[in-house]
Amino acid sequence: DVFQQIERVEERLGAYITLTKEFAFKQAEEAENRLIKKEGITPLTGIPLAIKDNICTEGVKTTCASKILYNFIPPYDATVIKHLKNAGSIMVGKTNMDEFAMGSSTENSAIKITHNPWDLERVPGGSSGGSAVAVAADECVGALGSDTGGSIRQPASFCGVVGLKPTYGLVSRFGLIAFASSLDQIGPLTKDVRDAAILLSVIAGHDERDSTSALIEGKDYTQHLDLEIKGCRIGIVKEIQGEELDKDVQKVIAKTINTLCDLGAEIVEISLPHLEYAVAVYYIIAPAEASSNLARYDGVKYGFRDKTAKNLIEMYCQTRSLGFGSEVKRRIMLGTYALSAGYYEAYYKKASQVRTLIKQDFMQTFEKCDFILTPVTPTPAFKIGEKVDDPLQMYLSDIFTIPINLAGLPAISLPGGFSQDGLPIGLQIIGPHFSEVNLLQTAYQIE
Ligand code: GLN
Repeated sequence: DVFQQIERVEERLGAYITLTKEFAFKQAEEAENRLIKKEGITPLTGIPLAIKDNICTEGVKTTCASKILYNFIPPYDATVIKHLKNAGSIMVGKTNMDEFAMGSSTENSAIKITHNPWDLERVPGGSSGGSAVAVAADECVGALGSDTGGSIRQPASFCGVVGLKPTYGLVSRFGLIAFASSLDQIGPLTKDVRDAAILLSVIAGHDERDSTSALIEGKDYTQHLDLEIKGCRIGIVKEIQGEELDKDVQKVIAKTINTLCDLGAEIVEISLPHLEYAVAVYYIIAPAEASSNLARYDGVKYGFRDKTAKNLIEMYCQTRSLGFGSEVKRRIMLGTYALSAGYYEAYYKKASQVRTLIKQDFMQTFEKCDFILTPVTPTPAFKIGEKVDDPLQMYLSDIFTIPINLAGLPAISLPGGFSQDGLPIGLQIIGPHFSEVNLLQTAYQIE
């Protein structure tokens, strides 16, 4: 079973921050009762799942892989957790991540690093690295992650699993510890597309406790999986072909284009002229929102508190300087700067305007094609330590995933092939807002 597998591999991989074995056994008993009574059985009943450690779980530590929340036990469940409980699934544990989901390699965790199961010297991607590894190494059947700029899709790609970032507003963010509220979405990481569709069917849907939740009810996202995609128009982005792309990544994309043609899809070249500004825009907007969201960690209400301080101001300062790691501090400083009087117009306002242009690029493109195919990342998984001293290089590894969050679109990352050294390479398929049923269908047909 899953816990035996965890015992075998977890020491080498480090996917989990907290294992919830007792909890899981209790849930397994409940699931068994449902099966015996033949009551309340869903496709997730009895299925062991892993949860990223920034999703609140009642009575179970939720740390965001940060020292500042090292002892935080939420008194409530996130809406997605409620849905999973109602479906009768089993929570195996909480997974490692970059601190507050800021990063692309899980190396920013204050707790430990996580290793890529395909090559232990390489990163699993991030920030949902623990969830991707847990799925890839059979330490669970499926997992939840969160995606602000690629944090589900990039680790899925590096670990050879499926990761779906739903349309902004489709899945409730209630109980997801906020990083950048206008970009964050929870989504599934699974072995295959069907499992992703099953998980999405359980977690999607309107929630009055999230003011940005769409007025849309969840549905059965597996309904169209088996239908063929003949005649479907797939866009290939003019701006991201050629030189900068790793050769192996190029080959996988070319192979996929062939597969699509065999399936009767039509390939169209499209242009996204503002794509090149996406990373720059993201690194204004995400830190700006983060600096505001993270203001609440002051040592008063919850989490870590520096006890040596002599007065209140000193307590705030020490708590935050000892509690946050360096990447989080970098983002808070970037964000407060971009929002400060005199700079707001030049940075935050400008970035919001360019964000609108990026969104419009996509909207116009979706008049010419149904879905867009791109790589997930420019290269396969990189070595542990390779980019830690160069934040800009780390940021650039998200150039294909970040624009999707800025535009609020759904996108799926699925295994496309392997590099010459046997590392998984992912494909990204992007769809219009709320196109998940057909997006999953397209992915399933390619898979
Ligand atoms: N890697 C990006 C960042 O560091 C995206 C992270 C995410 O999606 N949570 O912000």
